[in-house]
Amino acid sequence: MAPATPHALPQADGDFYGVAATLSPEDDAIRRKVRAFVETEVAPIINDYWERDAFPFELVPKIKALNIMGLPYAGYGCPGKSTTLMGFVMMELARVDASISTFFGVHTGLAMGSIYLCGSEEQKQRWLPAMAALDIVGSFGLTEPDVGSGASGGLTTTAERVGDTWVLNGQKKWIGNATWGDVTIIWARDVADGQVKGFIVENKTNPGFKVEKIQHKMALRVVQNGLITLTDCRVPETDRLAGAQSFADTARVLRMTRAGVAWESVGCATGAYEHALRYAQTREQFGRPIAKFQLVQDLLFRMLGNITTTQALCLRLSQLQDQGLMRDEHASLAKGVCTVRMRETVGWARELLGANGILLDQQIGRYVADAEALYSYEGTREMNALIVGKAITGFSAFV
Ligand SMILES: Cc1cc2nc3c(=O)[nH]c(=O)nc-3n(C[C@H](O)[C@H](O)[C@H](O)COP(=O)(O)OP(=O)(O)OC[C@H]3O[C@@H](n4cnc5c(N)ncnc54)[C@H](O)[C@@H]3O)c2cc1C
Repeated sequence: MAPATPHALPQADGDFYGVAATLSPEDDAIRRKVRAFVETEVAPIINDYWERDAFPFELVPKIKALNIMGLPYAGYGCPGKSTTLMGFVMMELARVDASISTFFGVHTGLAMGSIYLCGSEEQKQRWLPAMAALDIVGSFGLTEPDVGSGASGGLTTTAERVGDTWVLNGQKKWIGNATWGDVTIIWARDVADGQVKGFIVENKTNPGFKVEKIQHKMALRVVQNGLITLTDCRVPETDRLAGAQSFADTARVLRMTRAGVAWESVGCATGAYEHALRYAQTREQFGRPIAKFQLVQDLLFRMLGNITTTQALCLRLSQLQDQGLMRDEHASLAKGVCTVRMRETVGWARELLGANGILLDQQIGRYVADAEALYSYEGTREMNALIVGKAITGFSAFV
């Protein structure tokens, strides 16, 4: 009698309900192109860069060729796709590496988004085509060493108008891409009216702009975060974002990018789950694959449940966004809930690998560490809870 053929095991696939099938064939081709890029170009090298706390500059020409910078913006050399596709792209990037998705999110969402949403027509014409082509790399400087969650009312960086020039003074901390990028959107308080305004500052040529790399991070080590010091940093009036009159305008940018971080966190959870599932199918204990144990299947069930519910949540969020109906509290609920579920999921994935789960070459450890940064940036859970709480109760609990 011929030996029994071992049955083929199912492929690990975090898209259990087929959310990608909701994309048009044209948009799905872009999603697949991004997936192929991260799987073939990023996955083989990223641990080495993570360990060395370095950015893979060799990938920049390949990222350019993807033509996804400024993905959801119309005109100015941008692809003009939906924010739903933008979400899928964030998810695909983070499924393999959350530093690469962060690089993309900072450049496309925060930096280009500030100019797209708050810039004058001239400013958009001047900056966005070069940023869409990735000839210019952007950053977003809001957080300060002593002001994070309280940025709306507490920014200490000042902007003083002297004739047709603005003079900026202060510090910005955690600014992604700033150590090597070309341009940073600096948010500062106008000393004349006390309102927060945005300024396009050129990193390399402005003598008042200095940046040092933040060392010894334990998350998103591939992203190069900077501590920026602005000392009488002079910026022409033509580089003040014409449509940013107060923090409410900064918040328009954050509303959009928080939706992106929600998708990104689903991607991070998905990547960790798929690694864990493959491991469970092959790792043997007590003479059988650990995937045969009921408790291990329960762990995988809980992970997949988190991923599937947050995918569905993000999909609906993006539909609202594409229809112009997404409010701050919608984006905040998604960012807060999806990052909580991600943190839970990557922890379970790590648990499933036992001791191997803490080895960098088994991937999961990087996901666990990187998830901590996604959990805290773009508004902590507490901040997003307060935004939702104010909307649903009618009472602000901000202090
Ligand atoms: C890897 C990384 C990249 C980043 N990139 C950028 C960037 O490119 N540009 C940029 O501008 N910023 C960036 N940030 C900064 C990020 O947005 C802030 O870290 C975040 O807003 C939280 O601010 P904080 O770290 O100062 O924490 P804090 O505001 O000091 O908060 C500390 C804790 O107190 C809690 N807390 C604060 N206030 C309240 C309250 N009223 N009620 C209840 N709890 C409260 C918070 O939820 C948190 O748990 C980045 C951060 C990281 C880690």
